[in-house]
Amino acid sequence: MLKTLRDAPADAETINHALLVRAGYVRRSAAGIWSWLPLGKQVLDNVARVVREEMDAIGGQEVLLPALLPKEPYEVTGRYEEYGDLLFRLKDRKGADYVLGPTHEEIFTQLVQDQCTSYKDLPVTLYQIQTKYRDEARPRAGILRGREFTMKDSYSFDATDEGLAESYRLHREAYIKIFTRLGLDYRIVSAVSGAMGGSASEEFLAPAPAGEDTFADCPACGYAANTEAVSFALTPVEGAAHPGIEELDTPDTPTIETLADHLKVPASATLKNLLVTIDGEIAAVGVPGDREVDLGKLSEALAPAEVELVTAEHFAQRPDLVRGYVGPQGMAGKAFRYLADPRVAPGTSWITGANKAGAHARNVVAGRDFEVDQYLDVVVVEPGDPCPNCGAGLNLDRAIEIGHIFQLGRKYADAFGLEVLGREGKPVRVTMGSYGVGVSRAVAALAEQTADEQGLCWPREIAPADVHVVAAGKAVQTELALSIADRLGAAGVRVLADDRAGVSPGVKFTDAELIGVPTILIVGRGAAEGRVELKDRRTGEREDLTVDEAIARLT
Ligand code: ATP
Ligand code: MG
Ligand code: MG
Ligand code: MG
Repeated sequence: MLKTLRDAPADAETINHALLVRAGYVRRSAAGIWSWLPLGKQVLDNVARVVREEMDAIGGQEVLLPALLPKEPYEVTGRYEEYGDLLFRLKDRKGADYVLGPTHEEIFTQLVQDQCTSYKDLPVTLYQIQTKYRDEARPRAGILRGREFTMKDSYSFDATDEGLAESYRLHREAYIKIFTRLGLDYRIVSAVSGAMGGSASEEFLAPAPAGEDTFADCPACGYAANTEAVSFALTPVEGAAHPGIEELDTPDTPTIETLADHLKVPASATLKNLLVTIDGEIAAVGVPGDREVDLGKLSEALAPAEVELVTAEHFAQRPDLVRGYVGPQGMAGKAFRYLADPRVAPGTSWITGANKAGAHARNVVAGRDFEVDQYLDVVVVEPGDPCPNCGAGLNLDRAIEIGHIFQLGRKYADAFGLEVLGREGKPVRVTMGSYGVGVSRAVAALAEQTADEQGLCWPREIAPADVHVVAAGKAVQTELALSIADRLGAAGVRVLADDRAGVSPGVKFTDAELIGVPTILIVGRGAAEGRVELKDRRTGEREDLTVDEAIARLT
């Protein structure tokens, strides 16, 4: 079953959307919900196989947990509320609340709590390749951002900090192997998020214009960082550490997610930069990359802070502004320590996020209450801003987040009281890491990076077949094409054979280019003399060979 389309769907804004639909790999069932057709399923499975092999190689054990989950574990960690509209919630016939799993930290923590009792049971790394559900505000860009999508998620459990560091390192190495084998061009960027507890975190980004992340990239020293992941190493502000520091109760400080029609901008507006003020003072400036927020969906009341859209002029007028982060998705209601702009002079007085939920601190002094020059990354608003590492002008590029690795620490173990019996016979709190690969997203990222004017163009390891055999002619050609396909198949070569009757050779050639299998074998005019043509999909190089030569070449 294969049907190609001459034209891309009218709403296709990205290469992957246009080509994967045209070439018959996927079909859109609803916004952000996709069916995988035979060719697409092959590619998806190939990506999953590579991921599985590399996870197994670092000692990961594959499991499969449910996607339909009771809400209670997510209440224990507060994420049932924090996730807001991103979480698919549903009820069973008895009225009990369920969610469709967006990510599974809670459930894996419970599983390990149930299965592991001693430090001897650790370290353990569990993973699954599973369907995830997130009610994304704008499911667009084809299968890059689905509301239902396939993720490999793994979780490491260690008794010690050193153990966690090692589990993280192993995952990092595995991810390097995975993305290299997939043939993706990628960068590893630091994505340290102070709001999550300052643990180590890195993202794997695949540069592509269709990407929704912006990353800063230094051409001089190789420094790279996600501009969405504003990260910093401020000394925590714990309440009133110094005279004059005042704690403000601001439980409803708006986040990007809770900004409502208060902003008086059309529901379709793209929200780029935000300025949050409390009592007329600047509390935070959000520069959430180019992330788009569907304001039409946000309807909660705002208080007590005032929020306005910030423009480049604000920055020009107030170079001393504290640049901050209003909070990544899913973190609504949490307090953040806001980012210090490296250009903020020591001694400047700020409002910061306090190191406590729902609070800010006023009169915090840069250089006294946190170390100004200890920031790790810069929120980059303009290309050409100085690299924090070497001072050269930074480039800004668009990229697709294909993987994310995270040292969670004891956050989830604390929430569930996950402990094992330690070496000395005393209970030890377990420390965790969580690691994700966007399996379906990787398919789209590959399409974005490898396609050319003719269509898709897969790396061999991921391609839906090794050889695309085209019967270009009448019965003679079809018969020979099928016998070649049989011989190749028997030799273990994965073959896609186009023996469609009544379809012109021209259409078949165009379709073969569109589908993007790495080698195309054409059975055309030479068939009577037992000659065929081999064509390399990427380079376009052609070779005229006998059938036996061609088969020898491909096996
Ligand atoms: P994004 O910033 O693109 O929304 P995320 O940071 O929310 O992604 P994680 O929670 O880190 O995503 O999930 C791990 C991986 O799952 C991501 O690195 C990405 O590759 C993939 N992923 C996340 N959301 C989606 C989605 N809606 N559709 C497809 N893949 C996704
Ligand atoms: Mg997300
Ligand atoms: Mg992200
Ligand atoms: Mg992420």
